[in-house]
Amino acid sequence: MCEHRNKVGDNYGLTCLDCGAVLEGYGYRVQSETCRHVWLKGESGYECMYCLEWLNEETWQMFYGNPIGV
Ligand SMILES: [Zn+2]
Ligand SMILES: [Zn+2]
Repeated sequence: MCEHRNKVGDNYGLTCLDCGAVLEGYGYRVQSETCRHVWLKGESGYECMYCLEWLNEETWQMFYGNPIGV
């Protein structure tokens, strides 16, 4: 994740205007083949707001959760 502040986004994702890095999703106008997921918590899991991939709570914790205290 870059430190630049000029960003452009649409419903595909978010891109840095300064360095061209894809910050979220597939980037502005789909610049990347892979999605930088942005997870939104739902009732029984997490859904990526860009590609709509869904993970249940347990799987999400395994990939992204903080291991401290487990
Ligand atoms: Zn940047
Ligand atoms: Zn995604």
